Amino acid sequence: MRLLIVGNGGRASALALKLSEDSRITKMFFAPGNATTEKLGENINETDIIVLRDFAIKNKVDLTIVGPEAPLVEGIVDEFKKVDLKVFGPAKKAASLEGSKAFSKKFMKTYGIKTAESVTFDSYADAKEYLQNQTFPIVIKASGLAGGKGVVIAEDLEEAEGTIHDFMIKRIFGDAGIQVIIEEFLQGFEASIIAVSNGDKIFPFVPAKDYKKVGNGDKGPNTGGMGSAAPSPEFKDEHFQDFVNNIMNPTVQGLKTEGLSFKGFIFFGLMVTEKGAYLLEYNMRLGDPETQVLLPLLENNLVDVIEDCLQGKELELKFKNQKAVCLVVCSGGYPQNHETGYEITGAEKVKNSTLLYAGADYRGGKVVSTGGRVLNLVALGDTFEEARKKVYEDANIVDFDYGFFRDDIAKF
Ligand code: ATP
Repeated sequence: MRLLIVGNGGRASALALKLSEDSRITKMFFAPGNATTEKLGENINETDIIVLRDFAIKNKVDLTIVGPEAPLVEGIVDEFKKVDLKVFGPAKKAASLEGSKAFSKKFMKTYGIKTAESVTFDSYADAKEYLQNQTFPIVIKASGLAGGKGVVIAEDLEEAEGTIHDFMIKRIFGDAGIQVIIEEFLQGFEASIIAVSNGDKIFPFVPAKDYKKVGNGDKGPNTGGMGSAAPSPEFKDEHFQDFVNNIMNPTVQGLKTEGLSFKGFIFFGLMVTEKGAYLLEYNMRLGDPETQVLLPLLENNLVDVIEDCLQGKELELKFKNQKAVCLVVCSGGYPQNHETGYEITGAEKVKNSTLLYAGADYRGGKVVSTGGRVLNLVALGDTFEEARKKVYEDANIVDFDYGFFRDDIAKF
């Protein structure tokens, strides 16, 4: 069996490692891949979806798995299906549930999915007028994809007005800011639920916790994720039931009614308040760094899970009764300007955890940093403390100039 995995982050490395357990796989291609995937298969330096489609035909790829949101929103699944290539992920229309927050909020409201109150605006003047009578903080979101940077929690009217001006007039995120959503601020803790859909039902994984802020104690700006832990000890059974009844089941119903049902991964970004779980967003793909802790806990063979979904079969997902921790090591300065090109050393001494490269590639026989989030250390343990100890011991062994990480990942 020959696979194509689209992506290059730590998520692609985690997928590669999990898939490599399956002896039926004879070849894995990664587009564009990283230093970990290069050792497990062949990296191809390509992101254009038509070129990838032709590559998949020419190289007799049996199954394609898409990691990041951009190619999904661009319609990679539609293009592959047109030529009868097997691909796991939502079509362009369903991917809009991630690609357009205006569309996803409308979907949530139509199908009674528990979410924050919000109003969508196309006009700057109307948005500005609406802000005059609101209480603060308030949440302002650019509707389109903005690499996780299009959400601002405005503390007062001045900041809120400045934000809609940046999004709608200055267009700092281009067309992504043509529409903005102004949303009620919810106070609580966040949880991520990743699930797979077989086109009829959704099967959830155990809940995960993602550490989004750059600094210890959740201080500083948002990042792509500084670490993760699963199963999230904060997300109790009662929250899970609330999620199933008020978010997951109405989502399944809405997908069917709108003709958006798909076979692929879906990610529910939740905020849990005193009134239970609220849906902040859908991502129509695996999360990063949640995937890095969920796949090692999953007992099922991932190829079987995907094949069963593609055939519309029922699934019984099983998870190890252990705790998983992922620590992300970043380039100095991230998430703002940061330098890359530094050599990473000490990887061969990593013994207690699994090292998954993210923004790192082989250059002239050395592994060098190429991005903000450079590598992940992942470990399992019977307790979070045990898993934490493993990743932190190894984080102090592996080294590159100006690298840094948070000290409090999975410290419950
Ligand atoms: P991501 O990078 O997770 O894909 P995104 O840009 O698609 O993010 P959201 O997930 O909707 O946007 O919001 C980003 C973050 O902003 C959330 O993880 C949460 O911390 C915060 N946030 C969003 N909506 C609210 C809200 N209504 N109340 C409080 N905080 C919120």
